[in-house]
Amino acid sequence: MDYKALGLRCGLEIHQQLDSRKLFCECPSGLSEKPEGTFLRRLRPTQSELGEVDAAAVEEARRHLAFVYQVTDNSCLVEADEEPPHEANPEALETVLLVALMLKAAPVREVHFMRKLVIDGSNTAGFQRSALIAVDGGIDVDGKRIGIPTILLEEDAARKVSEAAGEVVYRLDRLGVPLVEVSTTPDVGSPEEAAKVALAIGSWLRATRRVLRGIGTIREDLNISIRGGARIEIKGVQELRMIPVYVEREVERQSMLLEVARALKERGVDRVVLEIRDLSTTVSGSASNVIRSAIDGGGKVLGAKLSGFGGLLRGKLGPEFAAHARVAGVDGILHSDELPGYGITPPEVDAVAKALRVGAGDAFVLVAAEEGRARRAFEEMLPRMRAALAGVPEETRDPRPDGSSVYSRPLPGKARMYPETDVPPIRVTDAWLERLRKQLPEPPEAVVPRLVQRYAIPEQQARQLVQEGNWMRFEAISGKVRDARTVATTLTYTSGELRREGLDVDSLSDEHITALLSLVEAGTFAREAIPAVLREMTRSGANAEDAARALGLSGATRQEVERIVDEVVSANRDAIAGRGDAALAPLMGKAMERLRGRADGKLVNEVLKERIRKELEKK
Ligand SMILES: [Zn+2]
Repeated sequence: MDYKALGLRCGLEIHQQLDSRKLFCECPSGLSEKPEGTFLRRLRPTQSELGEVDAAAVEEARRHLAFVYQVTDNSCLVEADEEPPHEANPEALETVLLVALMLKAAPVREVHFMRKLVIDGSNTAGFQRSALIAVDGGIDVDGKRIGIPTILLEEDAARKVSEAAGEVVYRLDRLGVPLVEVSTTPDVGSPEEAAKVALAIGSWLRATRRVLRGIGTIREDLNISIRGGARIEIKGVQELRMIPVYVEREVERQSMLLEVARALKERGVDRVVLEIRDLSTTVSGSASNVIRSAIDGGGKVLGAKLSGFGGLLRGKLGPEFAAHARVAGVDGILHSDELPGYGITPPEVDAVAKALRVGAGDAFVLVAAEEGRARRAFEEMLPRMRAALAGVPEETRDPRPDGSSVYSRPLPGKARMYPETDVPPIRVTDAWLERLRKQLPEPPEAVVPRLVQRYAIPEQQARQLVQEGNWMRFEAISGKVRDARTVATTLTYTSGELRREGLDVDSLSDEHITALLSLVEAGTFAREAIPAVLREMTRSGANAEDAARALGLSGATRQEVERIVDEVVSANRDAIAGRGDAALAPLMGKAMERLRGRADGKLVNEVLKERIRKELEKK
């Protein structure tokens, strides 16, 4: 795809959890698997200080949801919104100031927290606290300058645990964890560039060594539009490698919607008027499950014609309309492009078409549900149907694991910000900034040549360590084991494989990985077994020794290696006498075969060489 010709504009918002206590209380950050009790809330939208009510907030209220909150061992009355916030955590603020200086942004002189209206239930208070920390920064990615207009300090939202009809369950463990939000200008010009920018900023954030690591600790919002389209925000992408896919799919979706709008224009469709009819008697004899369960449950089948929309619903507008119908609490819709189907027969389709006076080139939509809900579904869909005439409506979308996204709510407006009066402002003094300037970590671009030189690792690996923000970890571990190359391979290639399997290898501590590599150097098991042991450690949370034992890998001590090598040598005296040093390779094979996976090749090689030399000296 020619993204430049399409006029792609893409900006990122990167949210990274900080490694400190929570932002407005003393609870530790991190997740908890021990919910200790629950309480229930409902939230309603309130006016902003300008008297407006936010569209996104109003729509959330229409969903009539009850929110259940699970209290955890790392939440207190502040998370429950039963106690005012404490003073902002100074350590978290300092980390964000450090990030600001690294990204060459100008810190504000006084930090003021604001309340941002959020009523999807993810905040017990109905708002998220957020403060502007710095403006006008930037980062160079592949020689291109990407602007960073704002850097914010925010509190993370509660974690969604489950969702059922009319009820959402959240856990309070994540609520209040400090986050830095770094936003870029919309200058990102391609899906690959989006991933590179995210990688580069993530790498800078990790360079502070003051951020949390592992799945879910960094999340990206993607703002995407093409020429003639509109700004779409895909919120909460967790997997970096999926960023290009989301951008690409969104560009495709906007192109499709623009094409649909052109088709409607060509057909002379300039308005959408819905005349909703009760078709329950028309389809009362249907064997379709969807229709049966609605009618047998006392509900109705409502339908409406969409003049001129024929053929534009399947795989195009159909999923868009259905997502809006879901706001009213219905499971989905049926439309003429996919009927007959879902148990609805051709004669039934004809009867519906006749009742709705559907002509050639027209489409129709059916909703089978409790009557009030079915009517609300049409009310929710109508604005989206009208928006199809103009092309792409602005909205917030949720990422799906397959790289697609789905409508979640209108784009929030400016109406949702108002001042936080419970948290006093904090002055950012020159002396504080001066002290932080002296602590600035080495810029990532200077690190690659230094790693190559100092540790003799390939440049490609050094670059990957830097891009993924793992070089400090690499240096910490390399200071404790002999073989830096194995450390590098474990942190790049091997970890990458495990990440692709969905394992949270980044949450392992430096100490655990050091212990793993020390066992390899001590000859406890072979280098080839590192991926298996690391996988077991990540999966079970065990330390290296226990993981190796669980895999049946431990046990080959140096003495055992020596014993087996001695046996191999004495069984092959003739070969050694005849071939001298050249006997090493075949004997190495024999020894490794007997020790397979239980000893490191380097150690076996070392012992075998020594024994062959002794054997030859005897003569
Ligand atoms: Zn707390």
